[in-house]
Amino acid sequence: MTARPSMEETLLEVAATMARRGTCSRARVGAVVARDGRILTSGYNGAPRGLPHCLHPLGEISSTEDVNAPTCTVAVHAEANAVAFAARHGIALDRSTLFTTLSPCVVCAQLVVNAGITAVYVGERYRDLTGVRLLNEAHVVVFSRMRHESYPGLGWRSTWQRDDGSEDFDET
Ligand SMILES: [Zn+2]
Ligand SMILES: [Zn+2]
Repeated sequence: MTARPSMEETLLEVAATMARRGTCSRARVGAVVARDGRILTSGYNGAPRGLPHCLHPLGEISSTEDVNAPTCTVAVHAEANAVAFAARHGIALDRSTLFTTLSPCVVCAQLVVNAGITAVYVGERYRDLTGVRLLNEAHVVVFSRMRHESYPGLGWRSTWQRDDGSEDFDET
């Protein structure tokens, strides 16, 4: 059989593609919510509908590693936008799975829990892991990408590991 990417890999790639549409000048994040491998809703981060895109002064732009760096207060996060789109169109997210390029912040983690999402696949861990720990406390299973290797003819191949939000997660 022809080698092909896993379903998880494919859906995270869709989330990464959506991230390219992000309008916040500080970060681009994409999210996809799926059930049984089919996409229910998606989102990327950006200012609320009808409001101008955020353009942050240079001093506000910071590395994702700096825990004390200011965060964007304009953009609606990718996960929140995905949940809001589902609400707008009457799509139930109960027992679905979230694929997101960056691990959810604590507010998005709360939304994920109450939307009924039961598993989360994370492309890259955010500097603040409070959201990941909240998901674990609420019994939402979190998998973070351990390895991300290029395979000829297959594109990317990731390996995933259960993520409890501890600081010593072995990322490579
Ligand atoms: Zn912004
Ligand atoms: Zn968020």
